[in-house]
Amino acid sequence: MERATGPMVERVFNFSPGPAVLPLSVLEEAQADLLALPGVGSSILEISHRSPAFDRILDDTLQGLKGLLGIGSDHEVVLLQGGASLQFSMVPMNLLRGQSAAADYILTGTWGATAIKEARREGKVHVAWDGAASKHDRLPTAGEISLSPAPAYVHVTSNETIQGVQWKHDPDVGSAPLVCDCSSDFLSRPIDVAKYGLIYACAQKNAGIAGVTVAIIRKDLLERSRDDLPTMLDYRTFVTNGSRPNTPPTFAVYILGLVCRWIRDSMGGLPGMAQHNAAKAKLLYDVLDGSGGFYAGHARPDCRSDMNVTFRLPDEATEKDFLKGAVSRGLVDLKGHRSVGGIRASIYNAMPVEGVQSLRDYMVEFQQARRS
Ligand SMILES: *Cc1c(COP(=O)(O)O)cnc(C)c1O
Repeated sequence: MERATGPMVERVFNFSPGPAVLPLSVLEEAQADLLALPGVGSSILEISHRSPAFDRILDDTLQGLKGLLGIGSDHEVVLLQGGASLQFSMVPMNLLRGQSAAADYILTGTWGATAIKEARREGKVHVAWDGAASKHDRLPTAGEISLSPAPAYVHVTSNETIQGVQWKHDPDVGSAPLVCDCSSDFLSRPIDVAKYGLIYACAQKNAGIAGVTVAIIRKDLLERSRDDLPTMLDYRTFVTNGSRPNTPPTFAVYILGLVCRWIRDSMGGLPGMAQHNAAKAKLLYDVLDGSGGFYAGHARPDCRSDMNVTFRLPDEATEKDFLKGAVSRGLVDLKGHRSVGGIRASIYNAMPVEGVQSLRDYMVEFQQARRS
């Protein structure tokens, strides 16, 4: 168990796919600030989104993102609402509406499929690769991707949260703008922003809490948005108004800023974060690989995710026993998504290595007990 300071609080190791575990130090800082922000005398929950105190918080958060990701002057960063799901619509509304070209989607799992459904409402969609034939257990090789002649953009999902497959390199899509749903591996590793036309991510997996969504947009793409878009669905509204055209989700923006600072000051920035995450994932994949098939990974080894480790046990009854035993050890929310079944361990940025070690030890013991 993770020990919080202060009053008696027992924290379990929470493997939830999202909203997910937060850094303990971030929770403690938010707790301390909740009654009164230092020097302000009111809670972050109570102050105006136009106040000088919130000016600072919003600026800190945006600077934190820019610093971690190395975002240059070609891109704008905006904070939005509506979750990653609204981006499934906003991306094609802004980048596809009125275009004669198709948008290409590389379909690697459940979230990509949901994105495609919304894009079809706005224009032509071409599925450049579909991994459904093998239940989305892998990513395409470069030769398997068939792009349309001059796509409006190419959309990928960097980490499919449900299947547990993750791109290990930036997909090469030629000169078309690359659009990426980074929701479940955002800020988990460095990313070369310059290669992307648009990156979007909800915060509640790796970067904070529900309510705020980050979008990073190449400036020239903003010119595609049409003037008849609803104001609040037009990226330009958020760029022009510094992510504050109306009341932003102030508490979620504040937490995102704290998480950025935690990654920078305590985790060695994104390179350090990536090392930490890869080491955690290896602990579990080593158990899978050494289990003689008892723990059968869903994703193929060359595509498996450092964020969501998905696997099956020999049968559903054994999986039930596994989950029950896990809870009794304070290892919670390990049930896989119903579409894949089995177990899913989500081990985002804030999952401490002790939590993963504890799960690893339990897995080894559980298998041994079944053998004897
Ligand atoms: C969680 C998730 C979403 C959906 O996010 P919401 O904020 O709930 O809309 C979309 N894409 C991916 C990859 C996700 O992991």
